[in-house]
Amino acid sequence: MKLLEDKIRSEGIVVNDNILKVDSFINHQVDPVLMMEIGKALAEHFKDKGVTKVATIESSGIAPALTCAMSLGVPMVILKKQPSKTLNSDLYQTIVTSYTKGTSYELTISSKYVNENDHVLIVDDFLANGEAATGALRLIRKAHATIAGIGIVIEKSFQPGHDKLAAQGIDVYALARIKKMDKDYIEFMED
Ligand code: 5GP
Repeated sequence: MKLLEDKIRSEGIVVNDNILKVDSFINHQVDPVLMMEIGKALAEHFKDKGVTKVATIESSGIAPALTCAMSLGVPMVILKKQPSKTLNSDLYQTIVTSYTKGTSYELTISSKYVNENDHVLIVDDFLANGEAATGALRLIRKAHATIAGIGIVIEKSFQPGHDKLAAQGIDVYALARIKKMDKDYIEFMED
C-alpha cells in the first residue's frame, strides 16, 4: 500500500535492526485518515472470505481492526490482556510468551463474542516473530471458531512470523512488507 509505505519512509524511525517506531501515526498518535484507508485495504483482501468478526489483541491493533471491521460490516472483538478477576465458564484464556521481549501475558476472550458460529479475521499492527498472532489463533480456536486469515499493517518480512503462519495454510496479508531496514533506509518487498 503506497500511502502507508510513504508514511513509513517519511515518519518511521528505525530504532535498531529489529524495531521500527511508528508512534506518530499508529502506536501513540493515530492518523485517522490513514487508518480508514488501512481498514478498507485489509477489508478488500478478505471481503469474500465469510468473515463474521475481526479480532485483535489490545491495544495497538484496535485502530486498524476497527476500521477493517467497519469496512466489512462486522463487529470487532478485543482479545483482552488483563487477567479476568471473575473466572467463569464463559471465558477462554491462553498465555502468550514473547521470547523476544522475555515477557508473558494472558489473553482472554468471552464465548459471548466469539464462538462456533464465527469465522474470524485477526488484525494486528505488526507481524515479527508471530508470537502474538499464534496466541490469538490459539485462543480463537479454543473458543471453537474458525480462522479466516491474518491481516497485518506492517510485516517485517525478514523475521520468521509470516512464513511460520503461512506454512499452516493461513492467509497472511500485510499492507507493508519490509524486506530490510537500517537507520537510513527502509526497503519494501515488491508486490
Ligand atoms: P511478534 O509476536 O510477531 O513477534 O510481534 C508482534 C507484536 O509485537 C505486535 O503486536 C507489536 O505490538 C509488537 N512489535 C513487533 N515488532 C515491532 C516493531 O518493530 N515496532 C513496534 N512498534 N511494535 C512491534
